[in-house]
Amino acid sequence: MPQNFDIVIIGGSFAGMTAALALSNASPDSKIAIIEKQDILKSDRKRDGRAYAISSASLKLFKEIGIFDRLQAEAGIISDIKITDYKSPFFLDFLKREVGGDLGQIIENYHIHNALRDQILQRKNISVFAPNSACDVTLSLSKSDVDEACFDKLSMTRVILDNGERIYSKLLLACDGRFSKLRELYQIHTTVKKYHQTAIVFNIEHERSHQNIAHEKFLPGGPLAILPLKNPNQSSIVWISPDQTAQAIMALDEKNFSQQLAKKMEDFEGKILGETKVISEKFSYPLIAIEAEKFYHEKMLLIGDAACGVHPIAGQGFNLAISGINILCELVKNSDQNLIEAYNKKAKSEAKKMLVATDILNSLFETKSLSIGLARDFGLGLVNKLPRLKKFFIKSAGGF
Ligand SMILES: Cc1cc2nc3c(=O)[nH]c(=O)nc-3n(C[C@H](O)[C@H](O)[C@H](O)COP(=O)(O)OP(=O)(O)OC[C@H]3O[C@@H](n4cnc5c(N)ncnc54)[C@H](O)[C@@H]3O)c2cc1C
Repeated sequence: MPQNFDIVIIGGSFAGMTAALALSNASPDSKIAIIEKQDILKSDRKRDGRAYAISSASLKLFKEIGIFDRLQAEAGIISDIKITDYKSPFFLDFLKREVGGDLGQIIENYHIHNALRDQILQRKNISVFAPNSACDVTLSLSKSDVDEACFDKLSMTRVILDNGERIYSKLLLACDGRFSKLRELYQIHTTVKKYHQTAIVFNIEHERSHQNIAHEKFLPGGPLAILPLKNPNQSSIVWISPDQTAQAIMALDEKNFSQQLAKKMEDFEGKILGETKVISEKFSYPLIAIEAEKFYHEKMLLIGDAACGVHPIAGQGFNLAISGINILCELVKNSDQNLIEAYNKKAKSEAKKMLVATDILNSLFETKSLSIGLARDFGLGLVNKLPRLKKFFIKSAGGF
């Protein structure tokens, strides 16, 4: 039996599940479906090494969709961020008192995924099709696509699942990730930037408390982020290096890996966290940025990494997806007649700002040029002295 929905979401991961919950709040009478390849219903998401920096704006949405309280058992608080350069006497710090509250939280992403899934299971207006792939998607049906009994569906989109089931909807959300097949299917032109860098992520335990401080250290080859986890003596590490160096680092035995890491973690203040020990499996992610030329095609909207995937230097990918979801929900609440065009315009503009900010941040600190280096050192010192500029930096580039 074909099923009818108001909104069908293809991809039930971070963006897809968050969008479903937020839309279910914005429009409680809507029937929403999620189609996801992975068996998210029967199995919990496993650790993949990434702990997400979640901005205050995203935490507000977490409260609204009912996952905030549960996540507090797992959340590290960021009350300060210190950005240092490997040789610079200057450093940039964002103090809590200057922004009037904590700067965000660090949460291992599998906790977020499982909290989203459990919340979805409590919503009566959200149906989950998983494990199921969307095999055939048609955005504009013609009379030859449907039999006479289904002529009322001509204005709808149709998804055929791998088990043959047919699902119709008024709006389709493509939340199928950075390598979106839906974006490809509808030939939406995409700009891809390969950074030739790989992020290695894992957790460490350290002798001294992190005191809720996140550190971003800009080193030759790429930055190292030390992100405070819930346990004051544990942090999540994002170690970014050129691809070949990262491969060599991943191949090191435990002892050599720890030695290299200890060297990276030292700075002007010495070993601020004391002795450290790797306490989790290590994962690596090659880094690319992706931007779709437009965030829609007919009745399909691109959301999350399917629309725009950014460099993780400022921990902003999922936060950016949430910003797009907030834009969409506002339009739905206001029953905007130009929903598709308005979403495209507003979400694209937010994504562009973030792409530019993360890209500049990465290239600024990657550079070996003396003049840019001096300007950057001067910039770090200057920004530190100008609270309003710092606030702007936190919001647009630092992102926490
Ligand atoms: C090293 C690293 C660190 C990061 N740190 C941060 C951070 O600190 N803060 C932050 O905000 N972001 C961070 N990010 C970014 C974040 O990981 C992504 O932005 C986020 O995962 C995007 O989620 P998504 O749902 O759009 O895509 P994905 O998580 O890729 O999900 C896509 C889903 O679609 C499903 N799918 C695909 N095709 C089909 C189909 N045909 N049918 C059914 N299902 C389908 C897939 O199975 C998958 O579940 C980081 C990224 C990296 C690499």
